[in-house]
Amino acid sequence: QKPKNLVNLTKGEMANWLNSFDTVLTDCDGVLWHEGVAIDGVPAAISLLKTLGKEVYFVTNNGIKTRHDIWKTAMGAGFDVPETRIIAPISGIVEYLQARDFRKKVYIIGAEAVRSELTAVGIESFGPGPDVLAGKLSDYIAQHVNDTEAHEVGAVVVGFDEHFSFAKMLKACHYLGTNPDCLFMSTNFDHVHRYPAFSVPGTRALLVALETCVGRSALQFGKPNAEICAELIKSGRVVPARTLMIGDVCKVDILFGHNCGLQTLLVGTGFNSVYELNEILQNPSENERYIPDFFVPSLGDITKLV
Ligand code: PLP
Ligand code: CA
Repeated sequence: QKPKNLVNLTKGEMANWLNSFDTVLTDCDGVLWHEGVAIDGVPAAISLLKTLGKEVYFVTNNGIKTRHDIWKTAMGAGFDVPETRIIAPISGIVEYLQARDFRKKVYIIGAEAVRSELTAVGIESFGPGPDVLAGKLSDYIAQHVNDTEAHEVGAVVVGFDEHFSFAKMLKACHYLGTNPDCLFMSTNFDHVHRYPAFSVPGTRALLVALETCVGRSALQFGKPNAEICAELIKSGRVVPARTLMIGDVCKVDILFGHNCGLQTLLVGTGFNSVYELNEILQNPSENERYIPDFFVPSLGDITKLV
């Protein structure tokens, strides 16, 4: 079944659709903004949804910014959202560690933002930044790989890391291999981040390399895993049947919506959205879980349709 294009709905159908949800979860990059710059008309569309009484949450897979930084990006781009409405993978990681009364150290393959979010809740961590083999592998191992340190590490967290290296893999492999109870967690599972002129490898590309040598899979805390909004659902703030998920990547956001039992809307403002959707629709029976209920070229269009 093809998604219904909001542009083709009658006024009555549009009104029914708007009445079918009370809560909106929206992806950030590709739906609301591109690299922090608001997409035309989208701040007005979010304001409109709020005026219509919808509760709006921003759900991002970005693991290189703190929730406070993402909130500042949102405010700077013209979105008036409380900081508590920013949901990011680190939220789930922090909750998971706190629920287990985590007292050990976290080794981070990822960004400084992960470290500051952990520090904020009193969890000790190390790792962000460049770490490379300057000389021989045996020298690096002699200096940096030892069992005493490995026993102090209770979790390895992997996120987007532009300084990903062999040295970091070596350490993670040692910590996870030495201690079978060492947690293995990941901020997100995005394959790639597409831009008009180039593509940037996503966390998944790094993680798969690590999973290969470690021999186990990391716990996922980003979309499409339902875990990222488990707390919102459990607390009753999100009632899945009355919630709309808006996204720009079918295999991340739309799948996430399906995994949580939400209605789904794909926007065409992601650099790859329309291409990916067309590819998925070539084989609808196999790709059912990636197919959105609705499509709109840009979220900004809804102000003209209501
Ligand atoms: N991870 C990183 C490092 C990013 O830069 C981005 C987008 O900017 C994302 C994830 C995806 O974020 P979102 O889920 O808001 O599209
Ligand atoms: Ca996105």
